[in-house]
Amino acid sequence: MQMQPQQLEQIRSQFATLKERSPFYARKFEGIDLGDVRTQADFEKLPFSEKADLREAYPLGLSAVPQEKIVRIHSSSGTTGTPVIVPYTAKDVEDWAIQFARCYEYAGVTPADRVQITPGYGLWTAGIGFQAGCERLGAMAIPMGPGNTEKQLQFMVDMQATVFTATASYALLIAEEVEKRGLKDQIKLKKLITGSERSGKKIRHRIIDGLGVEFYDIYGLTEVYGPGIGINCQHGHGMHVWSDYVYLEIIDPETGEVLPDGEWGEIVLTTLQKEGAPLIRFRTHDLSRILPGSCECGHDEHPRLDTLTGRSDDMMKIHGVNVFPAQIEEVLREFPELSSEYQIRISHLDRRDTMRVYVEAPGTVDWVQTSNAVAARMKSKIGFTPLVKIVEVGFLPRSEKKTKRVYDERD
Ligand code: ZN
Repeated sequence: MQMQPQQLEQIRSQFATLKERSPFYARKFEGIDLGDVRTQADFEKLPFSEKADLREAYPLGLSAVPQEKIVRIHSSSGTTGTPVIVPYTAKDVEDWAIQFARCYEYAGVTPADRVQITPGYGLWTAGIGFQAGCERLGAMAIPMGPGNTEKQLQFMVDMQATVFTATASYALLIAEEVEKRGLKDQIKLKKLITGSERSGKKIRHRIIDGLGVEFYDIYGLTEVYGPGIGINCQHGHGMHVWSDYVYLEIIDPETGEVLPDGEWGEIVLTTLQKEGAPLIRFRTHDLSRILPGSCECGHDEHPRLDTLTGRSDDMMKIHGVNVFPAQIEEVLREFPELSSEYQIRISHLDRRDTMRVYVEAPGTVDWVQTSNAVAARMKSKIGFTPLVKIVEVGFLPRSEKKTKRVYDERD
């Protein structure tokens, strides 16, 4: 991604005082004169920030402003151990709402809309972000919060909500309930906005059909404001990320090298205006790519991320090649006779790495022919031929949350 001139300007201007303002960055960039960062190439030599670094700053060590300027904190989900506390100034809170309102606008939401908000409120950034953006835009917020499906459905009907915001899994549950109860004629939903979790195409289509909505993916994470730093526009090809607030890089998760547009890798984010807790080259571990070329909406100043395809922790290195589960999925999608479930196992046999891919298909499919065809397509995609084995539908384990698909048995 080519850094835009005003982005370089924003970075240089925050670097001028960053170390004075932030003990965290004074330590992180010890021995580095940030005044020497004059070009994109200089910037790309700076070390990355990791969630673990942020965690070490617990509780308020990330703050880059005097305490009286902090008006709010949020906290990212610490599944293990210490959470990350992110302090916000009044300007940060406002900037986040501006970005979120822009997300709604890109999705075609107007002040005439009624937005039912089901993500959680509290330390989480989700609910309050959806609400602040909605109010800033001038639409009507219906702040439901999560759960209580009975009440959600009642309000969806009685309040005639036009926009539904939820995780994809909750939207699916609601879509199924709407179908089961025959409510489709009584609801007025037009749009669904979901947090950018990975959700399969099949699930998306069930939601779209079940609720009769357009589907929008919003991007963001607590460390960088929260959801709302990008969304797909009405043309639907990738999520525009707001280039006036965030500088976007895609790196090779293995080497840290910045990758050209179009190549899959890990999303790295730098905030351009954040006061409370600026983030410099933050590794998100989310995998995506920057879509090259122009969007039909004409907003090329805001680069587009492809749908997230997983986490960089899932990347596999085989025969010296980086392989992502997303590439395997892409091939499997070309074979509609296969189920969406698969499993990858990597082992070391006879001094070489082998990759086995297990996929499910019903008994009506010619297993030999199909597995050969899949293996051939994979070779053209990833550069070597894996062993493809077809198993009965239902054979592979399923999980409500995140199904483990990659097993590395090499060490
Ligand atoms: Zn667009």
